[in-house]
Amino acid sequence: MILSTTAPSARRETQAFIDQPHQLLIDGQWIPAASGKTFDVFNPADGSKLASVAEGEKADVDKAVAAARRAFDSGPWPAMTPSQRGKLIWKLADLMDRHIEEFAEIESLDNGKPKAVAAAADVPLAIDLFRYMAGWATKIEGTTIPISVPYLDGAEFHSYTLREPVGVVGQIIPWNFPLLMAAWKLGPALATGCTVVLKVAEETPLSALRLGHLIQEAGFPPGVVNIVTGFGETAGAALSAHPDVDKIAFTGSTEVGKLIVKGAGETNLKKVTLELGGKSPNIILPDADLPAAIAGAANAIFFNHGQCCCAGSRLFVHRSQFDQVVDGVATEAAKIKLGPGMHPDTTMGPMVSKIQQDRVCGYLDAGAHEGARAVIGGKRPESEGYFVEPTVLIDTKSSMKVIQEEIFGPVVAAVPFDDVDQLVQAANNSVYGLAAAVWTKDISAGHRLAKRIKAGTVWVNCYNVFDASLPFGGYKQSGWGREMGYEAINLYTQTKAVTLQLK
Ligand code: NAP
Ligand code: MG
Repeated sequence: MILSTTAPSARRETQAFIDQPHQLLIDGQWIPAASGKTFDVFNPADGSKLASVAEGEKADVDKAVAAARRAFDSGPWPAMTPSQRGKLIWKLADLMDRHIEEFAEIESLDNGKPKAVAAAADVPLAIDLFRYMAGWATKIEGTTIPISVPYLDGAEFHSYTLREPVGVVGQIIPWNFPLLMAAWKLGPALATGCTVVLKVAEETPLSALRLGHLIQEAGFPPGVVNIVTGFGETAGAALSAHPDVDKIAFTGSTEVGKLIVKGAGETNLKKVTLELGGKSPNIILPDADLPAAIAGAANAIFFNHGQCCCAGSRLFVHRSQFDQVVDGVATEAAKIKLGPGMHPDTTMGPMVSKIQQDRVCGYLDAGAHEGARAVIGGKRPESEGYFVEPTVLIDTKSSMKVIQEEIFGPVVAAVPFDDVDQLVQAANNSVYGLAAAVWTKDISAGHRLAKRIKAGTVWVNCYNVFDASLPFGGYKQSGWGREMGYEAINLYTQTKAVTLQLK
């Protein structure tokens, strides 16, 4: 059932921002695309046009990379002390703090997610990430290394390492958490002294553009952060193949991740980090606290409408409790109120786009065709907006598309298991390895499974717990490298070994 598609309008300042012309941020200036082209972005709750933004292409990416190169090599940015850099990042976080409601409204209108969720999760997490990374700016240290050099008898040396910024970084982000993904990317780049060209998702460019205005207000030197709106096939491809970009950091589909690697390989072998798709197993052991596990299983798949790379899309339940858990998750699904993100009662908004709605419904059709059964949901409701019903599938087989492929929508497949070895085999039977969860009261069982599951994140008795200090990223085809935590700092720096001969 869909709530009324009419929802309260945005605050005046939010609407004023949305209505203004949206240009590219290059070298500290807002400028139109070289071609003069623009494209429209839409409100997925009703399909209406929300705004027009500049359509950046290769010429604009070239300009942005040149500005980032100048800012990296000369000017105020490389001359700043780590403490000054940290203060600027902290100042940006403080400015964002003053605009939480505005960011939440932009995110809700552009992406479709409930405003309350954006205000409680996306925006505060983005702010916290910047503060966490601001702290790292002054703590990026090398080591001293007592070397031996066995072939130079009697010589003495002093060796140490420097951790230096990797350089000009191209960052390409998706539409599921537009502001938060921008923060995950920009935070470590700025803390380490890199400069950035950020290519935001065509479906959801607005919150990063608002952030661009705050980056200017905070006083970052021109060219340190450049923001290009445009399409993946043009602007994104130009950035990943650019010979003067030192690193690409990408979040999105595994398919595009492979194209990014190809672009890097065919040009300058730039460093690449990738945060890609997932098909995460969520495991309920027989001794779990069932009410908590059922609520957790619903949150694992329905949070952000299932448009999470770590969504708990394969729910493994012991056969003895299978029906009870499936009923429980279906009951949770039935409570979900679909509606526009700006409606205060909405608990699940629309898919981000018509394309995404069609993709998800395509999987529902494929599942039905292959013999899976929806105990709840399974359809798109009648609406102008791009809604999909929260869905629980049973009667699946491991070879089905709905089990093997990432759906990226509110669709969970519940699968029974009989013993733990068979469970581990099934849980790891995926090209992905982003996240997993285990629900159990047995501490040892939780730790043992955490070791056996091939995933970059394992939650025990919880799901979707993120923190700026926790590294996040994938095993297998879920990615290369990690976001957040000290691991991210490492991936935006490179090590230089310096050796002096003393004697
Ligand atoms: P996508 O196509 O991988 O897009 C992610 C980003 O890459 C966007 O900025 C996109 O630009 C850009 N891009 C597309 N083609 C490119 C290319 N050839 N070279 C360089 N950049 C390129 O993902 P999507 O279309 O947004 O969603 C498709 C699927 O990706 C989802 O269903 C899901 O499976 C996965 N996904 C994963 C995550 C995650 O967090 N891991 C997030 C979102 C989506 P455009 O905006 O113009 O497409
Ligand atoms: Mg796309």
